[in-house]
Amino acid sequence: TNTLVLASRPHGEPTAAHFRFEEQELPALQPGTVLLKTRYVSVDPYMRGRMSSAKSYVAPFAVNEPLSGGVVAEVVESQSTTLPVGSLVVGNLPWQEYCVAPEKSVSLIPAGSQAPASYYLGLLGMPGLTAYFGLLDICQPKPGETVVVSGAAGAVGMVVGQLAKLQGARVIGTAGSDEKVARLLQLGFDEAFNYKTADVAASLAAAAPNGVDCYFDNVGGAITDAVYNLLNKHARIALCGQISLYNSTTEPVGPRPEAKLLKTSARLQGFIVSDYLPRWPEGVRQLTEWYNQGKLQFDETVVEGFENIPAAFLGLFAGENTGKAVVKVA
Ligand code: NDP
Repeated sequence: TNTLVLASRPHGEPTAAHFRFEEQELPALQPGTVLLKTRYVSVDPYMRGRMSSAKSYVAPFAVNEPLSGGVVAEVVESQSTTLPVGSLVVGNLPWQEYCVAPEKSVSLIPAGSQAPASYYLGLLGMPGLTAYFGLLDICQPKPGETVVVSGAAGAVGMVVGQLAKLQGARVIGTAGSDEKVARLLQLGFDEAFNYKTADVAASLAAAAPNGVDCYFDNVGGAITDAVYNLLNKHARIALCGQISLYNSTTEPVGPRPEAKLLKTSARLQGFIVSDYLPRWPEGVRQLTEWYNQGKLQFDETVVEGFENIPAAFLGLFAGENTGKAVVKVA
């Protein structure tokens, strides 16, 4: 089957040359396994880290081995008693058009799901859960407080902003195009601006006249430096991602924020969504309920074709996606 492998490790910006397509043989089905046809492949910023050999919270991808990640697939042959042919599943699977997987490695997507299956890679999957736990558990916004979310028009950020509105907070988002900004305002963000064209410090100060109580950081770098100047007493910062720095070839440097954290008694907490693994069912249940009640909206940028997975992945670093970047496989 057609398989996407890591051809070499990038230094700095990844390119199409770091990926390679090849045919791989699939093993025969054994009892307790299923043959899956890939329907949707998730491309996510964290995969940049896995392309490097550096030690992190997930093991690096191996060179000349298939890449893998969140996949929605259809069961096309089954030796499982729990996964009938025709059912849709989601799991962490290799980037292959077909794959053989143990039944326990995937979860069944409820047949009556009101949300499209691909949302199990977004709103009702890893990114939605990242927003849910990072905002509600770490930031804990109170009604009337000011919440800033960077990378606000992405898969995680779009959910963070809407959840913060549901908590009664005032929400400010940053994003990289005027179209994204317009979309955020439609979704109920109180303020949003284009960090590529606006004066970030001045726009933030104008949008947050009462300072910042919560910051959900998806991007790091200059935007984060500006937010730290506006922190209120007992501010809470959920350090979720640093995408502006993922392709750095040198140790990133910037202003030292420690004195600002000290003076405001702020709490800065890094987290990985898998820290909350035991609570994932709660998160999916709550996000599903809010979605079904019409309280949450979600966008996807769908790229068609297995052969376009590398382009969709590279597009994350160019801001090509609004909401979740997914690849639809015919
Ligand atoms: P997104 O859907 O937000 O896609 C990435 C977006 O990042 C792009 O669309 C782009 O939007 C923005 N971006 C790219 N380069 C830069 C840059 N140099 N400066 C500022 N923004 C940039 O991805 P996700 O929602 O999946 O992930 C968001 C963040 O959360 C990432 O940093 C990711 O690593 C992190 N994350 C962390 C998890 C955890 O467990 N801690 C789990 C999941 C995600 P724009 O047009 O606005 O520039």
